[in-house]
Amino acid sequence: QLPPVHGDVAFENILFEYEKGRPALRGISLSAQAGQSIALVGHTGSGKSTIINLLCRFYDPTEGRVAIDGFDIRNVTLESLRSQIGIVLQDTFIFSGTIRDNIRFGRLDATDTEVEEAAKAVFAHDFIVNLKDGYDTEVQERGNVLSMGQRQLISFARALLANPRILILDEATASIDTETELKIQEALKTLLEGRTSFIIAHRLSTIRGCDNIVVLDHGVIQEQGTHEQL
Ligand code: ATP
Ligand code: MG
Repeated sequence: QLPPVHGDVAFENILFEYEKGRPALRGISLSAQAGQSIALVGHTGSGKSTIINLLCRFYDPTEGRVAIDGFDIRNVTLESLRSQIGIVLQDTFIFSGTIRDNIRFGRLDATDTEVEEAAKAVFAHDFIVNLKDGYDTEVQERGNVLSMGQRQLISFARALLANPRILILDEATASIDTETELKIQEALKTLLEGRTSFIIAHRLSTIRGCDNIVVLDHGVIQEQGTHEQL
């Protein structure tokens, strides 16, 4: 059982092979202190998603270990690990149901007020109340009631409400209008506040705001540092 964590995350001398003899990560040592935001950047196939896969324990490292608050994550239950990690994926997951249920997804006990507060904090409230039935508006998994940017804000509200110590964010690449884009950047700041976050970042504005930028190349860390340092 992983106790409630602060969110110090360390990848220690990681070697990882999906297939024997073909390392997807080599010699990765990377640490994040609780509350820091880490941007993972690099070409396609460089290992960004693989780092996330190890943190969530979709796979275990071939060599080395991943530790949270000093606990080797291999020694804790998946439930206690994953309940403390929030994931916002690029292909934002919206299911058929009301907006309210979509936001409440990870926190079924949340009250209507809590749902609305989360939505307000990420600038989603205004567009939601302008929908036909407000928070009770039914949306479809692949429907077009919501724009890409709006779907993203809903997923931010969901993550904020769930309030995980560790957040993984695969930033959307879809083109979004400038106004929504600005909202998303502001909402992102709110969402990252006080959490350890790993962001597969595509936008320069996001990368710039991170505490550490890790540049991956063919499974190794090419360089890391702040935007000013790199
Ligand atoms: P992208 O920007 O395209 O998402 P990425 O940086 O996330 O790329 P990874 O998905 O981490 O890259 O892939 C790293 C390496 O591992 C690549 O060589 C890829 O082909 C390989 N790889 C990824 N997933 C698997 C898998 N399930 N089985 C075998 N090899 C994989
Ligand atoms: Mg990837």
